[in-house]
Amino acid sequence: MLVVMKTQATPEEIQAVCDHIEQLGYRAHPLPGAQRTAIGITGNKDAVDRGNIEALSGVAEVIRVSKAYKLASRDVKEEDTIINFPASGSSAEATIGGRNLAIIAGPCSIESHDQAFAIAEKISTSGAQFFRGGAYKPRTSPYAFQGLGLEALQIMAEIRDRFGLRIVTEAIDNESLELVAEYADVIQIGARNMQNFSLLKHAGRLRKPVLLKRGLSATLEEFLMSAEYIMSEGNYQVILCERGVRTFADHTRNTLDLSIIPAVQRLSHLPILVDPSHGTGRRDSVLPMARAAVATGADGILVEVHDHPEKALSDGPQSLYPDQFALMMNELEQIAPVVGRTLPRVLHAVSPAI
Ligand code: PEP
Ligand code: MN
Repeated sequence: MLVVMKTQATPEEIQAVCDHIEQLGYRAHPLPGAQRTAIGITGNKDAVDRGNIEALSGVAEVIRVSKAYKLASRDVKEEDTIINFPASGSSAEATIGGRNLAIIAGPCSIESHDQAFAIAEKISTSGAQFFRGGAYKPRTSPYAFQGLGLEALQIMAEIRDRFGLRIVTEAIDNESLELVAEYADVIQIGARNMQNFSLLKHAGRLRKPVLLKRGLSATLEEFLMSAEYIMSEGNYQVILCERGVRTFADHTRNTLDLSIIPAVQRLSHLPILVDPSHGTGRRDSVLPMARAAVATGADGILVEVHDHPEKALSDGPQSLYPDQFALMMNELEQIAPVVGRTLPRVLHAVSPAI
């Protein structure tokens, strides 16, 4: 159910409706919009008696949301969600969603202090705002490099201080989630964990943006239901990411499903990024698919970059060289205005090494 408040409803009236919903044993999710606030109701097994709620002061109407996902749905919130990162420390203001494209770049895994800093410097010179790097890696083989863990998180915290880049890194389970939440600006939940419902709920109890990657064989509805898991716990800062799915095609590692972008945008208000690195698995396909993703209307790109991809401990073959990343930024900057977007270039004032 959704309670639509009147345009002129006061914060007190909104609070009173939320309190009423919670007293009934349900959960209230206030969702402020440009015109008016809506309040999502979850946790109800049967239809909520709308009469009493409709009678509360400031309420315009109470409507039933028929989709399986509620809080992630456009029925509940018409305007696009924009995740804001206010300026802090050496980081300039940034956004994910809205007019500005968000670019998240960095190595698959943090391998050493020197490797991470060398890549971060290049990325920052090209004007990216977000640095990605795996500290905990969900690898298909238990014998493959599993990530540096806490040490990698500490390296990324230094990168944020030094270059002003926001940090995006993956939590692979509830244990790593706590540490990742302490260090990261955006918590990534990987494709293999898209339906780890316990992890989704725990991430939902945090108040940090979550980047949710599409599962290897997830339908659009399953993808949005996983976002709903996070939002149902009160964390509305969810960013979706298409990263390719399993198909019979064997010319790429996965099949990058760009057609999900307009479908997501029709059904949901959440931002959606595209990861052409895992989506193709091939360096030579990354730039063409990144161009296509922006042309399709993606809210940004997540891309793997490595200064020595031939020596990378994970995902070298799909990692761009820093020069290729610089070229990608130049091209995306030109494509962006054609589809009504802007690629903000943040030329970071690099803090001196201490
Ligand atoms: C990654 O971003 O490095 C990663 C492991 O991605 P995915 O979960 O999409 O495979
Ligand atoms: Mn990777």
